[in-house]
Amino acid sequence: MDARGGVLAYIGLGANLGDPRAAVVSAINAIAALDRVQLTRQSSLYGSAPVDAGGNDYVNSVVEVQTALEPHALLAHLQAIENAAGRARPYRNAPRTLDLDILLFDDLVLHDETLVIPHPRMAQRAFVLRPLAEIAPALVSAAQLQAVADQSVWVL
Ligand code: ADP
Ligand code: MG
Repeated sequence: MDARGGVLAYIGLGANLGDPRAAVVSAINAIAALDRVQLTRQSSLYGSAPVDAGGNDYVNSVVEVQTALEPHALLAHLQAIENAAGRARPYRNAPRTLDLDILLFDDLVLHDETLVIPHPRMAQRAFVLRPLAEIAPALVSAAQLQAVADQSVWVL
């Protein structure tokens, strides 16, 4: 397949342990270096207070990629990047060195054991909707942003 072929997907990044800004920046670089993935847009870095979790503030970003990978293959690559960053999963919503979530994958709707697309919690999270709206304003409505306006999210 043409290396430039494929569909647009959106990936949410978050980190709140160690040096979270460095973790997010190096994860963006690692995504850009993946075979059959082209980084096409990246949001600003954002700060956010933890939601349903303790610990330090998060650094968040959303990137757009054009990819010829299947969604499960993209997820496997993202999990390898998480693991390389030292991600452990001691308990749900634990602080994390790096979290990479597939938010949207073309117009795909998918629900299986390992992958749910669109990401089921993205509409409740200002730290996803605000950076997504920055790089893909047509994908986020004013009503969606208004619904999460009480959450503390700021541009770094
Ligand atoms: P969360 O991101 O919800 O805080 P994790 O990062 O620990 O939690 O993800 C747990 C599991 O979520 C992963 O093993 C993965 O199989 C699954 N998952 C389901 N849908 C998605 C998605 N759209 N993007 C990333 N992971 C997903
Ligand atoms: Mg995740």
